[in-house]
Amino acid sequence: MTTWVFDGTVLPTGDTARVTFGPGEIGELLPGRYGVPGFVDSHCHLTMTPGPNGPVLRGPDFAAERLGELAGAGVSAVRDVGGNREVTLELARSADDSRPLVLAAGRFLAPHGRYFPQAYEPVAPEDLLAAVEAEIADGATWLKLVGDFPEVGPDGPIRGSKVSPTYDLDLVEALVELAHSRNVRVAAHVNTDHVTGLIRAGIDSVEHGTALTEQDLETLGARGGAWTPTLCASVAAQPQETPEQSSRRQARSEHLAALLPLTERYGVRVLTGSDVVGTVAAEIDLLVQHGLSVEQALTAASTGAQDFLGLSGAGNLVTYDADPREHPEVLAAPAAVVLNHRRIS
Ligand SMILES: [Zn+2]
Repeated sequence: MTTWVFDGTVLPTGDTARVTFGPGEIGELLPGRYGVPGFVDSHCHLTMTPGPNGPVLRGPDFAAERLGELAGAGVSAVRDVGGNREVTLELARSADDSRPLVLAAGRFLAPHGRYFPQAYEPVAPEDLLAAVEAEIADGATWLKLVGDFPEVGPDGPIRGSKVSPTYDLDLVEALVELAHSRNVRVAAHVNTDHVTGLIRAGIDSVEHGTALTEQDLETLGARGGAWTPTLCASVAAQPQETPEQSSRRQARSEHLAALLPLTERYGVRVLTGSDVVGTVAAEIDLLVQHGLSVEQALTAASTGAQDFLGLSGAGNLVTYDADPREHPEVLAAPAAVVLNHRRIS
């Protein structure tokens, strides 16, 4: 096994360092003078693909293929926030150095008619806490609560229907309390001002959060909470967009660009997530377009996420020929990738 040596600038800190990967001291020089200690896809769905009426669930082969693609892009850890629980919880329980580490939330927690029909088994309010117990017993270290959602018909979410809360806040509070008592954290999908109540109820990470306010950021940051804005999903232009949809998207983008620069002041951890449509590199680019510095966006995608999720970047490195702080476009094309001490590309 070759020992690879990296000699260059480690980001996001900008420190120069010499790091070796492999059994010995003497080895070959790794291509690339700029390195990041592994990316984290903090809002990933390893078992979902887009379908005509919303996402559909896939099996273990699809998840393995996705993990391979993610590894090649420099992702060394994934937080799977909902999908085929049999597959994702098995990946979370098993250790395998040849692929990114997986933290998983198991199933989507949403009642009947309040999420993409092909992507989940509904959980009635009276069964919610038992479902939480089952996910934790099977290895979930995160839970994925669908906090609000439009009305759903046989063809998926009904266009123009009101997005409203899925479960009562007192039940969400009980869910959070149960999760925290087991050292499990809660990520919540939310796109309305219901986010204020969910943060008060104690959720640990806001997913999407397109209706967050500055006050919400202050409350979330005071508790050390995180926000995964999934900009690839929230602000990307949709095919066959109506003028009204386009102007709503523009307004959403402007709102997020006003909020993101405030996250540092309030101590909110920003995380990057590909969701079903994006990539970590594209998300970094969008974070920069929405007011973060390249260093802040790189932190969100690497060391900041590792810290928040209790992971270490040791043994992982993604390198680039040019400085991503000057040329962020290089992030999509690494010079080399080291995963768990082994060079994989
Ligand atoms: Zn998602």
